[in-house]
Amino acid sequence: MKAQRVSPNVELSAQKPRVLVPFLGGLLLLGTALVFLCWLAKSLYDRGLQQRAYDRHAHLIGAARTLIHEHILKAIQDTHQISVIPSVKNYLVNPGDASRSRLVETLVATSNIQARYDQIRLIDLEGRELIRINQGPAGAQVVSQAALQNKLDRYYVQAGLKLPPGQVYLSPLDLNVEHGEVEMPFKPTLRLVRMLSGDGGMPVALLVLNFNVSGLLNQLIELFAWGDRAMLVNTEGYWLVNHDPANEWGWLLGRPELSVEQWQPALWQQIQAQPAGVAQHAGSLFSFATINAADIYRGTSEARYLRDLGLTTELNELTWTILVESDQNHWQARAVYHRGWFQAGLAGLGVLLVLGWYFAAQNRQHRRYSRALRRQQLNVFRDLYENAPVGYVTLGEGGLITNVNVRLVEDLGYTREDLIGKRLIDLAPQTHRHEVEALLVSLDDGEGAQQRTRLKRGDGSQLEVLCNVSSSLPEQKTLQIGRCSVQDISRQAALEQRLRQLAERDPLTGLANRRFFDVLADREWERATRRDTPVVAMVMDIDFFKRVNDTHGHDVGDQVLKLLADTCSRELRATDILARFGGEEFVLLMPETTLEQGVQKADVLRALLARTPLLTASGEKVSFTVSLGVAVRSPRLQSVERLLKAADRALYRAKHSGRNRVCVDGEAE
Ligand code: GH3
Ligand code: MG
Ligand code: MG
Repeated sequence: MKAQRVSPNVELSAQKPRVLVPFLGGLLLLGTALVFLCWLAKSLYDRGLQQRAYDRHAHLIGAARTLIHEHILKAIQDTHQISVIPSVKNYLVNPGDASRSRLVETLVATSNIQARYDQIRLIDLEGRELIRINQGPAGAQVVSQAALQNKLDRYYVQAGLKLPPGQVYLSPLDLNVEHGEVEMPFKPTLRLVRMLSGDGGMPVALLVLNFNVSGLLNQLIELFAWGDRAMLVNTEGYWLVNHDPANEWGWLLGRPELSVEQWQPALWQQIQAQPAGVAQHAGSLFSFATINAADIYRGTSEARYLRDLGLTTELNELTWTILVESDQNHWQARAVYHRGWFQAGLAGLGVLLVLGWYFAAQNRQHRRYSRALRRQQLNVFRDLYENAPVGYVTLGEGGLITNVNVRLVEDLGYTREDLIGKRLIDLAPQTHRHEVEALLVSLDDGEGAQQRTRLKRGDGSQLEVLCNVSSSLPEQKTLQIGRCSVQDISRQAALEQRLRQLAERDPLTGLANRRFFDVLADREWERATRRDTPVVAMVMDIDFFKRVNDTHGHDVGDQVLKLLADTCSRELRATDILARFGGEEFVLLMPETTLEQGVQKADVLRALLARTPLLTASGEKVSFTVSLGVAVRSPRLQSVERLLKAADRALYRAKHSGRNRVCVDGEAE
């Protein structure tokens, strides 16, 4: 399986962290969420404030209702009480100066005691005023008979004339009108009318009390706290009481714009639709309750008491609406968010939040940046590991392979899975185990080492490699991680081999050249001297070789030289050293060989070559012979050089004695 080349995404454009954009983006989201939360919190809080305002309104409306009822009840009681004063009855039965003046006296005293009745009048059934006591700044005043008026056309007289004796009519609230003109300053007036009876219970006159309700209205205004505006509204929607007195009595002043209907149309509709309720318009809170002044105790056990009072109820006329308004400034006035400390705290919190968010964003961006940087570095390292121009093996204890890079996988022709889990020593050929073992030993020692060795490849061949190992040994002194680089040096080794070949070998025959022969011969000579073993040297020369060249050509001459080298090599021991000294002259050094053995071998070679002709490409047989000179190491020949010279001399003799023969050094000619 071909190893997959890994190309990690090595992106080297790590950008500096940008804080501002994510910060602002996040802030926008956070801000939106916070604004929403604040809005929600304020809404809930405001709802609480509103509820408190409405509760206050309800309480105030209850108090106002009681106040109004108390005043009106008192006025009704007063009306009845005056009706039954004996001097009233006496005057009605015996009208005359005496009874009149007694009655006037009584009514003046009553007017002064009560003070709230601007007028106490007796009006006959034709509408003429019989007696009239005005209450003014100077106290009660009796109106002269000449100043008395006819009030037959006034609505309250008309209503009173329809009353059965003993019943009371309660007029709507309006301003006092004298001689057809509204009396100034305004006198808000409620009229109470009771039919008086004479002898036999016959109706004879009307008692009319002008109840000045200024006191009641003032009390009503005082009842309401600062900021809560109390208003009393009549059935047409005009103000009887308003926080601004200029808005009051619009219907009498001919100013229809001074009405709730014009001011708050929606509110007015709501007031007409329901007897009580709350509303909110333009930020202001409203509570209203419609009350019937005469219907004081309806639905209570006191209802009978009211009926017994004989009160005539003209509901429409007597219906008032108590309206309370709290404008936004008021009901929110004490809100916590209007307090300086709260606003400062909120602003401080906001600043802290923004700062906190900024630092968090910065921190986040920096973390992201360093993560990206680490990832990048990791990719770079991974790339370096996987695609380095040299193989890498990561080793664990005992030389266990825990990881290999792509290069090694490719160089050795295994798969990664084949290699991981194996031990490094398993990759060493038998002949090179010791080298790999040496590497592993230095790994365990925590030392670095370099070793040239061979490793087995997947296809069974071997790869010449240069291994470098290093390891980390922490305190425990056990191998944590071993690193081994494996450099393929097969080409270098081949080159070295080639260079060695060129330096040591004869290019034509592949035999050792003269230089290499000297090296090998010195080594053997030294060993033979040390052990004192015999060494034989031979010099061999082809006979009439010039003729071969001349006859068959130089190429054939070359082939003869090669044939000679191959033939001799086959015949020799591994320890014998055969070299070509140049031309057609060969030298042979035979360690641990006696002269006899040497001569014998020389003759064997001679005979062998003589019967081994070269077969040329054209089918020609080229026979050739050689002459040999043989010498053996002896006290006389104490160097290779001398030995060779001796052999050469012997060769010379062989040539001169006929060629194709062997001559021995020291032999007689
Ligand atoms: P002798 O029997 O006296 O040795 O006669 P010879 O012809 O062999 O002697 P000589 O030394 O005069 O000639 C050697 C010849 O060998 C000369 C040269 O042309 C030939 N020769 C030398 N080196 C080479 C070679 O590498 N190849 C070939 N083909 N011929 C070579
Ligand atoms: Mg020669
Ligand atoms: Mg020759």
